[in-house]
Amino acid sequence: MEINSKTKLFCLIGHPIEHSISPQLHNTAFKYFDLNCVYLTFDVEPTQLSRAIKGLKALRVSGFNVTIPHKVSIIRYLDGLDISAKETGAVNTVVLKNNKLIGYNTDVEGIKKSIENIEEVRDGRALVIGAGGAARAAIVALKMLGFKEIIIANRRLLRAATLVRRFRDEELNMRSVSLFEMKRYSKTCSVIINATPIGMWPHIDETPLNSTEIPKGSLILDLVYNPMKTRLLEEAKKAGATIVYGVNPLIEQAIKSFQLWTNLEPPRELLLKVAEQSLQTWGRNEG
Ligand code: NAP
Repeated sequence: MEINSKTKLFCLIGHPIEHSISPQLHNTAFKYFDLNCVYLTFDVEPTQLSRAIKGLKALRVSGFNVTIPHKVSIIRYLDGLDISAKETGAVNTVVLKNNKLIGYNTDVEGIKKSIENIEEVRDGRALVIGAGGAARAAIVALKMLGFKEIIIANRRLLRAATLVRRFRDEELNMRSVSLFEMKRYSKTCSVIINATPIGMWPHIDETPLNSTEIPKGSLILDLVYNPMKTRLLEEAKKAGATIVYGVNPLIEQAIKSFQLWTNLEPPRELLLKVAEQSLQTWGRNEG
């Protein structure tokens, strides 16, 4: 579709932004449905966030994604929050509705969808590694799946403790541990989610856990998607665990955002192919 005066603009704001594959995913989906829409990225420094949001609203940008480091700080500039954003305290998708900016968190749906039909996911004990925005989404997803016990392991223990205070309730038992202490608990968990960048390119030899620390028959989701096959997932395979690639929740969250903007659901297989191609090219360019 040719860009003209009726083209609707969607975008991603974050800092840095150049490694995102969201433009490839959303522009492929726009093309698939023959929509007169385009998706761009804008590198917005934290000090410019409020001005950027005012600008996006004034320009009536139809919708946008939000990534590191703005997922939490954007909330104060929005007109309303969906329940998914309220529960996580983080926003990754914004929709312009009646000239109001409404924040959503589609990472929750992305994580939930990627693991909910896997047999190993039973409501035992889960381990979430990390205490940032992705960890918050993972906790909410696990809660929705019926988990009653979640251990949060983080480099800075204070941040993990903050999440425990935020999410613990009568139904959910939580505890915060250091990355070192986590190794004492990991073998008792049926689901392990890495929500840190450990193992991400170029640090591809790093892993938060090795095969002897991962229980056989468990499920390991690595939210890192570059590389797709991370060292953690290799270790998990060695241990006899079921593995889920980070590219799966990435695609699921993109599909959910696209649905919020257009009411249409792009085909997963098409987006998966585009993601795999984009990540391969990205690796070659950087390497
Ligand atoms: P974030 O809010 O910045 O949080 C980063 C977390 O990782 C913090 O807990 C931080 O610990 C920890 N961390 C960072 N560097 C570390 C290191 N070298 N060693 C140990 N811990 C480290 O980021 P986020 O949004 O949660 O994203 C985390 C990861 O998930 C990123 O790799 C992101 O690309 C990925 N992600 C993937 C998807 C998906 O759909 N696949 C969705 C969202 C995010 P401290 O608190 O101690 O600093």
